[in-house]
Amino acid sequence: MAKDIDWKNLTFRLTPTQTMYVAKTNLSHEWEEGQYIPYGPISLSPAAGVLNYGQGVYEGLKAHRTPDGRIILFRPEKNAERFQQGAKRLCMPPISIKQFINTVVQIVQENREYVPPLGMGSLYVRPCLWGSGAVLGMAAAPEYSFVVYASPVGNYFGGGKIVPVKFLVSEAYNRSVRKGTGNIKCIGNYAATLLPTSLAKGEGYMGTIFLDAIEETYIEEAGVANFFCIKNNKLLTPKLNECILSGVTRESIIHLAREVLGLEVLEIPLSIKTALDADECFCSGTATVVTPIGSITYQGQEKVYNEASVGPWTQKLYELLLGIQQGVIEDPFKWTMDIDQFQEITADLVEA
Ligand SMILES: *Cc1c(COP(=O)(O)O)cnc(C)c1O
Repeated sequence: MAKDIDWKNLTFRLTPTQTMYVAKTNLSHEWEEGQYIPYGPISLSPAAGVLNYGQGVYEGLKAHRTPDGRIILFRPEKNAERFQQGAKRLCMPPISIKQFINTVVQIVQENREYVPPLGMGSLYVRPCLWGSGAVLGMAAAPEYSFVVYASPVGNYFGGGKIVPVKFLVSEAYNRSVRKGTGNIKCIGNYAATLLPTSLAKGEGYMGTIFLDAIEETYIEEAGVANFFCIKNNKLLTPKLNECILSGVTRESIIHLAREVLGLEVLEIPLSIKTALDADECFCSGTATVVTPIGSITYQGQEKVYNEASVGPWTQKLYELLLGIQQGVIEDPFKWTMDIDQFQEITADLVEA
């Protein structure tokens, strides 16, 4: 029950909510309207494509409570577009933008008591698309499920509000390959990072930086977040390619840095050497927001940034972004969507 939640001590662990959503489609590829049902286990064939061959993608987005008690989502149309791209890459029938947004909004409405009070976290919404039909030979599944659930969450890395995190560069493992699936949120990408991440945690690090798999020189991601650094008042971030997930947070930070802070932003192949020489580093994502990187260890050497405290540009970007997401400061780019002002989308929007 929502009233039993200890809001002050939320982490990124699952706290189930009241209602989830399930829709299915078969090979005709027409999605049904779907149903809002009590949160709980679902039934799947042991031969489901998602279980045997990893045919699945997911999304993650957050609803925040504003100072005047409204509930707002942040750029859900961006997640909808990316969800479509992931579906197509894994041969799954995409969800229309309107069905995605209507469902995400309704899931937040249905679970509104689970949106934490301002400053204590957010309601994390997790849309999933799975090959739920049975297959034995390796093939696309004959049936698909679109499932959306939600959980209230606090800080991703635990601890206080904005604490610098120690990162280790993964030298024994890469995350993704050229022409692979690194740029979609397909479930198989994540299990493969568990081992390097748990090895790093065993050595006292909180995260892993992944380099490109060809030259092992260029930074691709910081765990499940995008990487940024600041050098001489310029913001640098890896230029997108098919190994890098195109984060909604990443794009928003680039926009805020340029348009609000007047920073020069360079999207470039960003070598680990350049990052080790930077003034500040941070990573970004829906889950991690803006998380400062206190140090990076590479080839046995630790580089500490800003005496392991939060750098000034990192702090500014964090406050700007989270302020807009929480409705605490003005939203000049119309990025937020009030779930109670929302009018159900009936027309098909332009689709990716
Ligand atoms: C989801 C994700 C991100 C962040 O994307 P957002 O849209 O900002 O949440 C970055 N990297 C990886 C690998 C991810 O899975």
